[in-house]
Amino acid sequence: MKQNTKCIQAGYTPKNGESRMIPIIQSTTFKYDTSENMGRLFDLEEAGYFYTRLQNPTNDFVANKICALEGGTAAMLTSSGQAANFYSVFNIANAGDHVISAATIYGGTFNLFNVTMAKMGIEFTFLNPNCTDEELEAAFKPNTKAVFGETIANPSLDVFDIERWAKIAHKHGVPLIIDNTFATPINCRPIEWGADIVTHSTTKYMDGHDATVGGCIVDGGKFDWFAYADKFPGLTTPDESYHGITYAEKFGLGGAFITKCTAQLMRDFGSIQAPMNAFFLNLGLESLHVRVPRHCENAQVIAEFLEANENVTWVNYPGLPSNKYYDLAKKYMPNGTCGVVSFGVKGGRKAAEKFMANLKIAMIATHVADAHTCVLHPASSTHRQMSDEELIAAGVGPDLIRLSVGIEDVEDILEDVKQALAAI
Ligand SMILES: *Cc1c(COP(=O)(O)O)cnc(C)c1O
Repeated sequence: MKQNTKCIQAGYTPKNGESRMIPIIQSTTFKYDTSENMGRLFDLEEAGYFYTRLQNPTNDFVANKICALEGGTAAMLTSSGQAANFYSVFNIANAGDHVISAATIYGGTFNLFNVTMAKMGIEFTFLNPNCTDEELEAAFKPNTKAVFGETIANPSLDVFDIERWAKIAHKHGVPLIIDNTFATPINCRPIEWGADIVTHSTTKYMDGHDATVGGCIVDGGKFDWFAYADKFPGLTTPDESYHGITYAEKFGLGGAFITKCTAQLMRDFGSIQAPMNAFFLNLGLESLHVRVPRHCENAQVIAEFLEANENVTWVNYPGLPSNKYYDLAKKYMPNGTCGVVSFGVKGGRKAAEKFMANLKIAMIATHVADAHTCVLHPASSTHRQMSDEELIAAGVGPDLIRLSVGIEDVEDILEDVKQALAAI
């Protein structure tokens, strides 16, 4: 199947007489004829369902669709993007370990890594995504367990050089985890460029309608855990908390990461996605291939208009030839990047607030990447817990306005932006 077909059909194939739409299995529990039947599931001897905190068929249909879209070997849904990123790292890094991350990542992920996971004893080094190979190499330590970046950073819109970082991560025997939320597999498939694990906040374009918070983790299945068995004992030695199973042995390179993540982290932390939410997510996925190109088209028009406007001091959109990431964006995302454009207005913070107050179609919201056009001033809202230095390091200056261009008629969006700029 091509991507467009996978959006509609992958993950669930109804048998004769079954519902064409994925069924919502709204049940916590699954019944078995004998305890031995169920015991085999608990031992992971057989695939099947016994309790929704671990697995649910509706969730699996949807995870399998995203897995197919990303070209992975296994996938799982989580209750949010935050849970997906937490699990993806914590599945291989423990207290006393070290992780390298791009500094330009989503504010929530930065906080998760820099504060919460630091409290759990995991040390993070944050690097400018444009650091030299030498600087990146120098950041590795014997206890480094993963490298993390975002295809297109939210909200700095830095484009991550996946292939370059993957090569260096692999040279040091660790996997590359890529948060592909903004690009979506319609515009970029990180696994094809060397990424090992892909995460999503499905809350954004995948759901696409402001309806459900969710996340997903996809394993590319190529990372050889046994080649670096000492670094990843959680995958290559028996799990005493799960009947002595060695995940990489029992489930192979294609299944080990997600099985361990489900059997340990989902079991213990329980950040499941509700089956009903997975159903809504699936509705979003069915039009992802139609919506994403329209987001990109509309954003391109708005970005070009802003760049030519005298009240605008700078525009950041990787689809503009003037953008420092234009070439990298063309390499990784030849069909378009995303619908998010950031820019600064003349007059800084005050003018930015005035601009926002005058918008009529674009709504002030902390959200991005859905059908509705929305706008945010991160320094006074989502990122207010960060210092100016941290803001700048994360690529989110105090004057930055983030405009998430929706799929309304582009003429209406353009008119709205024009009149709000004139009102400053
Ligand atoms: C929103 C977002 C997250 C967090 O996702 P939630 O679903 O809000 O928990 C993580 N990464 C990126 C790139 C995001 O945009």
